[in-house]
Amino acid sequence: MSATILDGTKIAQEIRAEVAREVKTMAAAGVRPGLAVVLVGHNPASEIYVRGKVKACEEVSVYSEKLTPADSVTTDGLLAVINDLNRRDDIDGILVQLPLPRQVDSKKVLLAVDPAKDVDGFHPMNVGFLSTQRPGLVPCTPAGVIEILKRSNIPLAGREAVVVGRSDIVGKPAAMLLLNANATVTVCHSKTHDLPVVCRRADILVAAIGRAGMITRDYVKPGATVIDVGMNTLTAAAEFHRFFAGNAKREDAFRKKGSTLIGDVHPEVAEVAGALTPVPGGVGPLTIAMLMFNTVKAAKMRRGNRVAELSHT
Ligand code: NAP
Repeated sequence: MSATILDGTKIAQEIRAEVAREVKTMAAAGVRPGLAVVLVGHNPASEIYVRGKVKACEEVSVYSEKLTPADSVTTDGLLAVINDLNRRDDIDGILVQLPLPRQVDSKKVLLAVDPAKDVDGFHPMNVGFLSTQRPGLVPCTPAGVIEILKRSNIPLAGREAVVVGRSDIVGKPAAMLLLNANATVTVCHSKTHDLPVVCRRADILVAAIGRAGMITRDYVKPGATVIDVGMNTLTAAAEFHRFFAGNAKREDAFRKKGSTLIGDVHPEVAEVAGALTPVPGGVGPLTIAMLMFNTVKAAKMRRGNRVAELSHT
């Protein structure tokens, strides 16, 4: 048996098209959703992520603004930037690209973002809204996980879901969303005993660990749906061959690029799982699509009176 591959790129495109349509309708009511991205310093990975986010805004006609405080910025300096964005009516979403430089108190900065504009969904108030099932802004990657499951018609109510990883940005919110969808949820972490046994209970297994190919076939119940959130870069040839020997397409790309992306799930899992998200092309594309979704949602929630006639997302 070979798992059905859940195409995250296609699902992300669907969501972006829906968001673009929504933005068009809002324009008729005189509202253009706006996203501010705060990028401190010159971290190359952060610069790539921010470029992708700004490009996605252009594609769906969301206004975007990039703010680039210097690497030497202080906590107070960054708080002033955030407070200014909080006050602006044309800005619906504020995203502070992490990591921030050492001298900055990241928690203080994230706490300063107006929860109504917190499109990353990291503010404790949005965390509380999620856990009490109130309308709010949900972290993009876990929201993307749920979109993949729902749009692939994978039943959740009453099913066993196991989430490996308990980070504030992926594992915990993913578990909460699955619970809100009436799955029976177990959250695992580095201290969990007999992890393969616990994972084998899962009808839906979500891996958000950050360990290349750790989830092997022993962790997977035959026929289970496996969602691979992990994004790990392999550069060592020996490691590459351990996972991808015989995969001509990957070998060719690895030779040319010198690296390849792998999730937390071992490629052999495709032989036992019922459905599986690939890496790349699975959860990854959903993250930016859900950021666009959240920006529009924030605009509708905050400027509701001006777009009252619009449907509720
Ligand atoms: P994180 O903050 O480092 O959390 C990792 C979690 O995995 C922790 O809860 C940790 O347990 C657990 N863990 C680590 N080793 C384990 C082991 N041997 N057995 C069981 N659990 C273990 O990572 P994260 O930010 O959640 O990200 C997880 C992965 O998702 C990374 O590969 C990251 O790159 C990727 N990611 C992808 C996207 C996307 O857009 N696709 C977005 C965000 C993150 P403890 O709590 O006990 O330490």
